[in-house]
Amino acid sequence: MLTVNAYAAPSATEPLIKTTIQRRDLGPKDVLIEIAYAGICHSDIHTVRGDWGPITYPQVVGHEIVGHVTEVGSEVTKHRVGDRVGVGCMVNSCGECEQCLAGQEQYCLEGNIQTYNGVDPADGTITQGGYAQAVVVDENFVLRVPESLDIEKVAPLLCAGITTYSPLRRWNAGPGTKVAVVGMGGLGHMAVKIAVALGAEVTVLSQTTSKREDSLRYGATAHYATKDAATFDELAGTFDLIINTVSAKIDMGAYLGLLAIKGTLVNVGAPAEPLEVPVFQLIMAGRSWAGSAIGGIAETQEMLDFCAEHGILPETELIAAEQINDAYERVLASDVRYRFVIDAKTFA
Ligand code: NAP
Ligand code: ZN
Repeated sequence: MLTVNAYAAPSATEPLIKTTIQRRDLGPKDVLIEIAYAGICHSDIHTVRGDWGPITYPQVVGHEIVGHVTEVGSEVTKHRVGDRVGVGCMVNSCGECEQCLAGQEQYCLEGNIQTYNGVDPADGTITQGGYAQAVVVDENFVLRVPESLDIEKVAPLLCAGITTYSPLRRWNAGPGTKVAVVGMGGLGHMAVKIAVALGAEVTVLSQTTSKREDSLRYGATAHYATKDAATFDELAGTFDLIINTVSAKIDMGAYLGLLAIKGTLVNVGAPAEPLEVPVFQLIMAGRSWAGSAIGGIAETQEMLDFCAEHGILPETELIAAEQINDAYERVLASDVRYRFVIDAKTFA
């Protein structure tokens, strides 16, 4: 076993603290990755604070991981020592069900094994995530990270990138489609950049106008403040597709009213509280309200290659490990532009 430094949540209410954790011995299909950078996703915060239910502590979170391969198991064929690689939100799945066979491991019928707070089939321990110096992962859940993407910025693609790319592709965002992105945080700003690259006409729906210049710089054609009630009158019936990335409970009826006839609102935001739907907003215009979880491994690789081809990177703020707790408060205050990335050297 390998002992590595990490930052862990000791409970739902205490700050994260420096600690050490064990990584399992390399199995024949395992890859040892020295982590270079790890992004901070709002899901990390929901998880450690118990928003989605009780968890086991101490817990190391982090599922936007990039680094280099330092050792491979005897049967590994996909990755070599020295490769630049990434790990996202899953580290395993059954590999045999119809979803896994279709490359949709995120919907594994046995439940995929999450990068943190999952039960590791290799040894029965609780998986620990990317706020650490190194990680051991089955080679099938390790992605190739194109060299052209700045390693200091690329980590958030492993969650924020794929979580927005997958629904944009599934619901055919592209030339001629009007897409709205609700909430411009980590996921939201990636949704804007990716939808623009796909050729869609993109509008940002943010609480205020404070991020308007950024929206336009990332290629959106419009940015509206949702605190202004006039926004909902002006944009009623407009969008073919709305991607809701908001981490809190919002008035779904108001947003569903912005969909065109037969339009779809996809929820990727996962607030602690249930959302309420006034069904006539769906019924009277044949609209759909859908959900989407990250993306499969092959689609995640496709997204990384797409971002390399289009020169798409997240906007990041690099922090040291001891700044994680302050960064959490800033994410909760929607004061992140647009993703915090931890320099893993500072776990030393
Ligand atoms: P984030 O960076 O905090 O962004 C969320 C954005 O939502 C904020 O920047 C803010 O944008 C808006 N917002 C926050 N509180 C709000 C409120 N009370 N009312 C209206 N708008 C509000 O979070 P993230 O990392 O992008 O994650 C967003 C959500 O997606 C989280 O719930 C996370 O758990 C979930 N998630 C889901 C998946 C999946 O597979 N489905 C994957 C990753 C994350 P403005 O300032 O522009 O208003
Ligand atoms: Zn995430």
